[in-house]
Amino acid sequence: MKDIVIESAEIVAIGTELLIGQTLNTNSYYLANQLTLLGISSYHQSVVGDNPDRIINTIRAALKRADLVITSGGLGPTADDLTMELVAKAADKELVMDRASKQRISDYFTSIGRTVSDNNWKQAMKPEGALVMPNTNGTAPGAILVFEYEGATKAIVCFPGPPSELRPMFELSLKPWLEERVAYQFEHRFLHMMGIGESSAELELQDLIKSQTNPTIAPYASPGEVCFRITQRIKRNQAEPDLISPVVKEIKKRLGQYIYEDGERTLPEIVLQLLQAKQQTVGFAESCTAGMISSEFGNLPGVSDVFKGSIISYSNQIKRNVLGVSSKILENQGAVSRECAEAMARGARKTLLTDLAISVTGIAGPSGGTKDKPVGLVYLGADYQGQITTEKHLIRGNRERVRTVASLRAFHLAWRCLKEKSDA
Ligand code: ATP
Ligand code: MG
Repeated sequence: MKDIVIESAEIVAIGTELLIGQTLNTNSYYLANQLTLLGISSYHQSVVGDNPDRIINTIRAALKRADLVITSGGLGPTADDLTMELVAKAADKELVMDRASKQRISDYFTSIGRTVSDNNWKQAMKPEGALVMPNTNGTAPGAILVFEYEGATKAIVCFPGPPSELRPMFELSLKPWLEERVAYQFEHRFLHMMGIGESSAELELQDLIKSQTNPTIAPYASPGEVCFRITQRIKRNQAEPDLISPVVKEIKKRLGQYIYEDGERTLPEIVLQLLQAKQQTVGFAESCTAGMISSEFGNLPGVSDVFKGSIISYSNQIKRNVLGVSSKILENQGAVSRECAEAMARGARKTLLTDLAISVTGIAGPSGGTKDKPVGLVYLGADYQGQITTEKHLIRGNRERVRTVASLRAFHLAWRCLKEKSDA
């Protein structure tokens, strides 16, 4: 039988617990991302319960559409774990005992001082002709089966359900196997932007997006930012010219002022690295975000070098007593105002003794909005070594989104403060 070239794949997640919302289907999410990075296309994905007929039908339908079908789940020792048996049936293969797997199972049980029960041997079975993928984190091995199906060469791969077993098995066994069999490889590059909407950015690049086939430019928005992925398709094992860089250069020419990252770092990571490089410190004064910014920043390893602390000034009392916002501002302009954001940033920098202080005050909703100050109105302030910046944002969406995007905007402001001074 000829070896297989894999251009397309379909993931079939097996397990009733996935259908009833008991388990989040992170295996499909993980596998889909891995397939994309390998340059393997996916056009369908399925979830099916532990029902033999439906499992077989789902696998057969997937085999008609894709070169490779990947299943997850149902490799355990219990009666409802039927995947291996059904895959053999769908491929019209005998189910046979794999000697090496049998030995590993017997060794495993000896090592934990137990005898193997009959149903454990079930996990040593595989469809005839299948390659076994050892399980370094559990007992159920996985399998790769290449076979002829309705006149075409196809492959089925079976993974155990637990993500802690599936992920290392993918990395150790399937990924290298696939890398030898993909038709194309894909190079990706990501450009992250802020301060421009997705549609305006697309408009600026319309001609490029329309005319490109290789590399392709794909926009995708995540809350509060715009990102473009530039992807070049390369024939496997072939040296090809870098087609991505000229496109990146052209995009930078048009939208460079909005691009904060050519790569995969997040804004908080970039801010951290800038502060580290400058050996400077930062602190935050958070009203409507109530610690989100600090928490996100605190998640980064190495942050203690540059992060001094924060003041969560939710109430006017704290704004006044700890940050020194004047009663006059709080009464006349109110807590959600440019003046208050400025006073908060100044107060935070003075109290925390940092090079940079960023403040956020706004109306996250759902209540508290007025005609003049609607839900989503957010003021940011920055005090960078005495240089003050304030800005006004109107963020659409629910409370969660307003707070998330406000946090992102705060990091963006921090980035601009730090970057401008280092550019100068
Ligand atoms: P086991 O030997 O543990 O029974 P298995 O291969 O039979 O493994 P399942 O019984 O289908 O797998 O699932 C075992 C556990 O793995 C589930 O309870 C769930 O926690 C997790 N799991 C299964 N499928 C998925 C999935 N698609 N995404 C995330 N987790 C999953
Ligand atoms: Mg199971």
